[in-house]
Amino acid sequence: MEVLSVASEAFPLVKTGGLADVVGALPSALRAEGVATRTLLPGYPAVTEALGGDAQIVWQWDNLFGGHAHLLAGTARGLDLFVLDAPHLFARAGNPYVASDGRDWPDNAFRFAALARVGAWLARGLLPSWRPDCVHAHDWQAALLPAYLHYDGAAHVGTVLTVHNLAFQGIFPASLLAPLGLPPEAFSINGVEYFGSIGFLKAGLLFAGRITTVSPTYATEIRTPAEGMALDGLLRGRGGAVSGILNGIDVEIWNPATDPLLSARYEPDRLEVRARNRAELRFRFSLAEDIDGPLFAVVSRLTGQKGMDLLLAVLPALLEVGGQLAVLGAGAAGLEAAFRAAAAMHPGRVGCFIGYDEALAHLVQAGADALLVPSRFEPCGLTQLCALRYGAVPVVARVGGLADTVIDASPMALAAGVATGVQFAPPSAEMLDAAIRRTAALHRKPEVWQRLQRNGMATDVSWRDPARRYAALYREIAG
Ligand code: ADP
Repeated sequence: MEVLSVASEAFPLVKTGGLADVVGALPSALRAEGVATRTLLPGYPAVTEALGGDAQIVWQWDNLFGGHAHLLAGTARGLDLFVLDAPHLFARAGNPYVASDGRDWPDNAFRFAALARVGAWLARGLLPSWRPDCVHAHDWQAALLPAYLHYDGAAHVGTVLTVHNLAFQGIFPASLLAPLGLPPEAFSINGVEYFGSIGFLKAGLLFAGRITTVSPTYATEIRTPAEGMALDGLLRGRGGAVSGILNGIDVEIWNPATDPLLSARYEPDRLEVRARNRAELRFRFSLAEDIDGPLFAVVSRLTGQKGMDLLLAVLPALLEVGGQLAVLGAGAAGLEAAFRAAAAMHPGRVGCFIGYDEALAHLVQAGADALLVPSRFEPCGLTQLCALRYGAVPVVARVGGLADTVIDASPMALAAGVATGVQFAPPSAEMLDAAIRRTAALHRKPEVWQRLQRNGMATDVSWRDPARRYAALYREIAG
């Protein structure tokens, strides 16, 4: 079984969020299921550099959306890659989606249409030597792929589109229809048209053979008007084509017993060793050492989706129960400033590191007592999976993948000995406040707390089960 995966990011080559983790980790997990994956990525500088000298040019275009382009084939960091080397679209420094002024690159429609266009050609057998049995497109950046396949005419290849976050839809002006190489008839409600514009994600949801999201609960939520972001009707119309498959994490990289990024490594039966990581974490975040309450932590984009404003609102409760807070994150300027101000106002009790730091994220998970994820919506969420694996008790809103991966410490779950964390609903400041107080109460009972930690660490958060599910899906739809 040969699969073409098409995405705009893949860890460790280029990452802005969980999408990269999934695209980077799934291929090796799928290998164990007899699935060989080739991943098509844009030729950002970091990607073409990682490819190195052994890459081969397997195709070229004189004019692909305004410039010369090569298709390169090679391997990098364990991934079998096709790389779309199109300097006029991708050879620029910085973020894949936005310029240094924070605005979207003005040619994003062409950049990601090119990715999808080439993916569709590969799916149809562009290369005589390689043709996939099915194509796995990820998010809006790859979502035009099934539309191109549709308008090109019959193609015997199965397609699946995974929605990692329905909030990002790739909406562009209608005037781009012809420049994007789409036929006039595509501008219809049964095509790429979306409220008078062109909707990349909308098109993908319409034309993909199957649609997955990254948790069963999110798959249900996005079919409701409240959470469907104006695509719920379309999604309901797709009926049984929509399903949810949870993400995993790379349990080799995220392994507290071997992690070189920690001050001290530990196993579930040596939880006391975590204290050394907590001490280092406190040092790095300028937090006081003589605090008995729980050390809460955040590893997150600082945005409204992630409920970071809710967390700011309940800081008094967190401090009142004797807690500390360490925030590792970057995002909205207002939230960054607010966390900095909170740290200045509560020295020793609140610390923040504004920025993106993969290594520090490991230490935070290994040293924190509890990881806060108060998201308003959360397709899957990866940080709570890392927290489970590292014995940081996740305190999460009961939405999307957070609902599916954490077992709340209800009296029943505690009695049955199966609880792994704390959930609250709905995602409001009032309920987060209550959850923080409940967490602090649990933390005051060391035996109960350690049981939560050990249950979390025993939870299977690997890619094994998700990979099996994807492999089964590919086999169902293979062309
Ligand atoms: P999303 O993709 O919506 O941002 P996820 O929880 O699915 O959220 O994935 C976020 C990923 O990015 C996780 O691997 C998390 O550890 C990582 N991450 C987020 N913010 C930071 C940060 N400031 N520093 C390091 N890692 C981060």
